Amino acid sequence: MNNDDNGLTGYLDEQANLYHTTGQSAISDAVYDSLARTVGRVVVGAKEGNDTVKHNTPMLSLNNILTTGVCDQVETWGYTALSHWMSMMVSRLPMIRDSVWVIEPKLDGLAIRLNYVDGRLISAALRGDGVYGRDVTTVMVDSGIVPLEIDYRDALEVRGEVNCAEGVFTALNTQLRDDGLKPYSNARNAVAGWMSSASPHLAICQFTLYDAMGISDWHVRNKEVCAGLGFTTAKTLGTFKLTDTLETITDIFTQSASQRSGSMTDCLWDGLVYKLDSHIDRLAIGGNDTAPMWAIAHKYPPSEATTVVVGITFTVGIDGRITPVCQCDPVEIGGVIVSECTLHSIHRLHDLNISVGDTVSITRNGDVIPHLHSVVYRPTTRMETADYAPKRCPSCQSMLETVGKHLYCENHEQCPSQELSRHLRFVSERGFNIDELGTERLKVVLQQGVLLGEGVSGWYSDGVEDRLATALNSATVARKIISAFEVAKDKISLANYLYALYIPGCGYTLSKKLSYHVRGIQDILSMPNTQLMEITQLKEHAVIALKTQLMSSRIQEADYWMTVRGIIPKTQITTIRGSVVITGTLSQSRQAITAMLERYGYTTTASVNQTTMAVICGAAPSMSKVNRAVKLNIPRWTESQLTEHLNTIHTTE
Ligand SMILES: [Zn+2]
Repeated sequence: MNNDDNGLTGYLDEQANLYHTTGQSAISDAVYDSLARTVGRVVVGAKEGNDTVKHNTPMLSLNNILTTGVCDQVETWGYTALSHWMSMMVSRLPMIRDSVWVIEPKLDGLAIRLNYVDGRLISAALRGDGVYGRDVTTVMVDSGIVPLEIDYRDALEVRGEVNCAEGVFTALNTQLRDDGLKPYSNARNAVAGWMSSASPHLAICQFTLYDAMGISDWHVRNKEVCAGLGFTTAKTLGTFKLTDTLETITDIFTQSASQRSGSMTDCLWDGLVYKLDSHIDRLAIGGNDTAPMWAIAHKYPPSEATTVVVGITFTVGIDGRITPVCQCDPVEIGGVIVSECTLHSIHRLHDLNISVGDTVSITRNGDVIPHLHSVVYRPTTRMETADYAPKRCPSCQSMLETVGKHLYCENHEQCPSQELSRHLRFVSERGFNIDELGTERLKVVLQQGVLLGEGVSGWYSDGVEDRLATALNSATVARKIISAFEVAKDKISLANYLYALYIPGCGYTLSKKLSYHVRGIQDILSMPNTQLMEITQLKEHAVIALKTQLMSSRIQEADYWMTVRGIIPKTQITTIRGSVVITGTLSQSRQAITAMLERYGYTTTASVNQTTMAVICGAAPSMSKVNRAVKLNIPRWTESQLTEHLNTIHTTE
């Protein structure tokens, strides 16, 4: 092989493509790997496109200190809550009273995980909903912002934020304006835009590591090792113990706040994160299925600005709820341009007594939606708030009804706004995940009757592609959309399916809970209420309401047509109870591990195949098993990842 890699790159692309589309290629993995190394590529196990992948261990979000207690004044933001959290942790978990907590900045970026096997980057995914996230392996491999090869042989998972330094972001926006292009509203959006378009010339991002699994049991030690491997790691701003004085933390909090607006090398900081140094402590205290107990965020006080209300409009939610939106003079708050502010309810609009021309105070904290705080000035002549309250639905003109503090359009089936929202939900990331369908295209689809008035199942009706091509005036776009639906058809999970159909009262969390216990909608309907209450933790009236929704003609018809057309969602029942392969030496005997796995309903097998759920890698694992797992895209877990995983099952069920 000579150094001219022109032909080689093309050949590798072809083989990789064959492998990903048919599962077979003309060359073995080993040959592919050695060729790929020659041209400096690492693509084994990488999948093409915007596929969603499951994380080996969930990427949970953090609880916020302000939710644990009273929120005090801006100067001492959350100190009461912080003190409350510290004493609560000490009394509930005395075993960690002397453990060390590490203080790090909370970066305003996109959370991502990277997996390395045998020293090479083999997979990267965004956090997504914490369980599933978008596969961005190709983007990260091309980006050059993370090491592709590291001097570390064991399986390693690192987590961090892809972020954009504020100075770099400002320069980027200046460039965009100079080029006559639209600037990004904030650095985080620039990162998201860059991640989805993956254009290397826009490589404005950096990766900052905030956690590593599979090195040692100590967080700070892991960061040091990772820094040695070539990663940029989150700064350690200090440490504390739960028994320390409040000032140990608040001094660092106030000092760090001066850096919150970023620099040439740092992105915006939302606040601080406090996390346990010891991974053993972390495992011991665990958490629930949405957030860990071993880490907590302490956000900075909100930024505030005043502006003038220039209009009041009303939107119709997916459930028919009418939400007032105050349009205002664009104003910069905490690095973001705000031009509208959603109010929680009609009630709130009246409470605040807002009218066009009023000067209002708006606050914003990190990536949180702007909050209209109060009216600071009312001109002498103004319209009364009551005059703005709509009598009819702004979308379908039907009379609105008051339910509690809210106004509702009860014309659920025919209201165009509600119908559009249902379709948007159907194609959203947690639904069928069709990237190419946004609001504008969906409006056209519905206006032109592409789905024959059938509802969401119409995406799988005969001749849909032709009608779509006519409506959108592009056969290429239509093909792209329909093939995305074809891909979704074979891989949609029951949780995503239930979420996608929009069953009032059934959000993603509930959909996921149900998906662990049933195979489909008819299973839920035939399940006794008591059993359903146990699974969902819902009260009886809520379970009955859920069943009523599931029996509605919209859901029944959609489910019927989807089933007839071969959309059978993947249930978690079989995937959560699968077979695993153990390789290498673990801390416990093989017999003990096998027995533990059996208690959780797993079987262990000797060889890795398509049905293997995970390969547990101890010290000195069999490389042929690891390689086979990589080839089949099966998660490789360290022993501690396995334990973490089993803990999540335990808490979910
Ligand atoms: Zn309506």
